[in-house]
Amino acid sequence: MSKLSLVFATNNPHKLEEIRRIVGSKLDILSLNDIDCHEDIPETADTIEGNALQKARYIKDKYGYDCFADDTGLMVEALDGRPGVYSARYAGEHCTPADNVVKLLDEMKGVENRNAYFATVIALVTDDMTETFDGRVDGEILTEPHGHAGFGYDPVFKPVESNVSFASMSEDDKNAISHRGRATVKFLDFLKSIE
Ligand code: IMP
Repeated sequence: MSKLSLVFATNNPHKLEEIRRIVGSKLDILSLNDIDCHEDIPETADTIEGNALQKARYIKDKYGYDCFADDTGLMVEALDGRPGVYSARYAGEHCTPADNVVKLLDEMKGVENRNAYFATVIALVTDDMTETFDGRVDGEILTEPHGHAGFGYDPVFKPVESNVSFASMSEDDKNAISHRGRATVKFLDFLKSIE
């Protein structure tokens, strides 16, 4: 694959680090900082695909760079798919990831069905194309936090492929099975197919 340069439209340093690690030297990934973008990018759609497209289009339109963005949701079966597309602000507008974990454990107190999945959509927007790539990992919501790695809901999510939470796994082990890892593999396969 010839070396492409793309902006990753995220203000989340953990996501930037994860994607850079998965992609390795195959792609030159610029951060929002690298293009002097220091604003909050709107994400007001009601689906994760809509949000991923909205973020990538915003950067392409306003800054001119070929760009990709991702959006992720945690869908919990017993909560009818919540927090879903609202996973970032589940516990309120200015909440922390820790607040979200506390609220989730609270809502899931005493609930037997712990099934949940993470879903990610990556949207790629360039001068001549718009494409999306999805990834999903199934698992369960633990009854208390375990581990200190990762970010967001990682301490309370245990994927079916493992006996421990995402936050108890190495970065490489998480990336090998995670929603974002799986979507990124499709994304890279696509880039390879068009080179
Ligand atoms: P967004 O994609 O940045 O909107 O993320 C939505 C919410 O899901 C945020 O609260 C993130 O912290 C959380 N989140 C996104 N990706 C992951 C992940 O890989 N593990 C755990 N939580 C995540």
